[in-house]
Amino acid sequence: MKKSQDIIRVSEPCLGPEEITNVTDCLKRGMISGYIQGDYLEKFEQLVSESCGTKHGIATTSGTTALALAVATLNLGPGDEIIVPALTNIASAFAVVYSGAKPVFIDSEPVTWNLNPELLRPLISTKTKAIMPVHLYGHPVDMDPVLKIAQEYNLKIIEDAAEAHGAEYHGKRAGGMGDIGCLSFFSNKIATTGEGGMLVTNDDQIAERARFLKNLGYSNREKFLHTELAFNYRLTNLQAALGVAQMSRLDKTISAKRKIAELYSKRLRQVKGLQLPAELPRVKNVYWMYGIVLGPDHPDRQRVRDGMMVAGIETRNFFYPMHLQPVFKKMGILAGNSGLPVAEHLGERGLYLPSSPKLTEPQIERICETLIQNLKNK
Ligand SMILES: *Cc1c(COP(=O)(O)O)cnc(C)c1O
Repeated sequence: MKKSQDIIRVSEPCLGPEEITNVTDCLKRGMISGYIQGDYLEKFEQLVSESCGTKHGIATTSGTTALALAVATLNLGPGDEIIVPALTNIASAFAVVYSGAKPVFIDSEPVTWNLNPELLRPLISTKTKAIMPVHLYGHPVDMDPVLKIAQEYNLKIIEDAAEAHGAEYHGKRAGGMGDIGCLSFFSNKIATTGEGGMLVTNDDQIAERARFLKNLGYSNREKFLHTELAFNYRLTNLQAALGVAQMSRLDKTISAKRKIAELYSKRLRQVKGLQLPAELPRVKNVYWMYGIVLGPDHPDRQRVRDGMMVAGIETRNFFYPMHLQPVFKKMGILAGNSGLPVAEHLGERGLYLPSSPKLTEPQIERICETLIQNLKNK
């Protein structure tokens, strides 16, 4: 086993002098909080909402709380159902469950690994109120059919764009296509504030209500008189200062991710039976993480990953599908969910390779060679 500093990690944040300057500036002026003292916050919300092509941005403490705030803002709760992909970060489903609404899990589509729009209709009941498309690993969901069905059944769309900041679908930005988009700024995301998130929307009323609910429901009229159960999901100005600096390198980060994906694909395209990330026509994949799916003739995934780790290369499994999560089984919310074979297959055979924008071409070459070697060791 290599020393920990020699390991090529799946992800590393890019932090430079501008991040240090901005954060130091906050500290020097004592502008550290997430309420009132928020000059960087305003700027950060503006930059992020612009990057999603939306009018409003409401910063939150995490991607998870952005999603929870989205569900609360749309007044969804007990008795309501929200369609969520089976293959996603647990946060997508947790955000629904916190509200008392029920997540109904939908299977993946085998090429992009996103929710399969063809499977939507049979899952819609009289209780269905919203769909939560998740743009997985940087590739946007095929939104046209999703939006069409949503309109037909009068369903809200909450886009989980935590992994697809800057991705494009038919000329539109991820997060800016539904009623609400949600982003995460965790340290491994496209832009980071350490921990953080944002709700983006074009709807003035949604924006106003989200702002109200995020800030303990303080009222403009009588500040300490509260009319609704609300939350403290306030991102701090200190974190937003970091975010402002990160946003100035967003385009560079995305170009680097795309370049890395190009180098990986060029080399790995020759490997028989290995599935690589897609980029459908009129789509811009930001390749948040470069995922691969092992074929039937490849060895056990854990063996491949162990072999990579011995060579000092960190990898990570795809998500474990939601309909198989012990927590949801225990809570008894899986009634009506049956096998979702594509998500199960991806969850078993998918993994992602180091995808930090700092990776060098020789490192990528070494990762590919090591992977190819390990795929032969059956
Ligand atoms: C990272 C992520 C989240 C959660 O974001 P946090 O900031 O970690 O709370 C939600 N959904 C998806 C798809 C994610 O990748």
